[in-house]
Amino acid sequence: MEIKKVVPSGYCKGVVNAIRLAKKTKEDNPDTPVYVLGMLVHNSFVTKELSDLGIITLDDTFTSKSELLDQIDEGIVIFTAHGISDAIKDKAVSKGLRYVDASCVDVLKTQNIIRQYLKQGYDVIYFGKKNHPEAEAVLSISEKIHLVCNSEMLKELHIDNDRIFLTNQTTMSYLELQGLFKEVQEKYPQVIIEEEICNATSSRQMAIANLQDCDVLYVVGDVKSNNTAKLVDIGKKHGIKKVLLIQDYNDIDLEDVKDAGHVYVTAGASTPPKLIEEVISYLRAKAGQ
Ligand code: SF4
Repeated sequence: MEIKKVVPSGYCKGVVNAIRLAKKTKEDNPDTPVYVLGMLVHNSFVTKELSDLGIITLDDTFTSKSELLDQIDEGIVIFTAHGISDAIKDKAVSKGLRYVDASCVDVLKTQNIIRQYLKQGYDVIYFGKKNHPEAEAVLSISEKIHLVCNSEMLKELHIDNDRIFLTNQTTMSYLELQGLFKEVQEKYPQVIIEEEICNATSSRQMAIANLQDCDVLYVVGDVKSNNTAKLVDIGKKHGIKKVLLIQDYNDIDLEDVKDAGHVYVTAGASTPPKLIEEVISYLRAKAGQ
């Protein structure tokens, strides 16, 4: 059995930067409470590592960012790589909190493009994931931004404006995007489109699409990570026989690889390198390599 790592895989620049900022903030302010509003990046191992350093993550699927902020009375709040609304930043300041914005530059770039089109009177169709923090931050910019998650939502959408701009969340799958963009063009032929999948996401997806001889693909990552979920989708849509999402090597069932010739390991942009290496070492050890 041959075991190979897919290149590139794992951490992207936005995640590395967010983790660096969070650690530095705590290092520079050891006696001040430091909070992260939501998961800094979508990986529970990273959240645990931050917690061990004394950085408190406030995260609850059913609680809004504004309500989470209500729980903080003092200290420093870190906004995650997914971006944050101006209203939340203003609220933090009005509560007397300091903040550190770890928004990824690629997320901010998409937000800036959207703002430019809004200024010119466009309605914006935003292809993204419901309740995802990146999409939430974008939607907070204007009521003229319409979230579309799938074809059904597009069918129900009615925009009365000659000027329509279409873009997307940075971590969507390029395959889904192609289909949905075509449907939008059919419905609104005047639409202007800018595809905004970030380089980290597209290069990880293309690396999977280009695999020729893969029997089993392990995708290491957290169930909450959108870009990890999209790597699983891409693997399945490209006909890889077994595509398995695992959080770490403890999730491996050796039955899955017993007849495999070529096993590949990839990981979402929020998965720590250590977890990827442990999966590869474990599989190699079990294969007697
Ligand atoms: S996946 Fe892309 S947009 Fe998200 S943090 Fe990484 S580089 Fe930035």
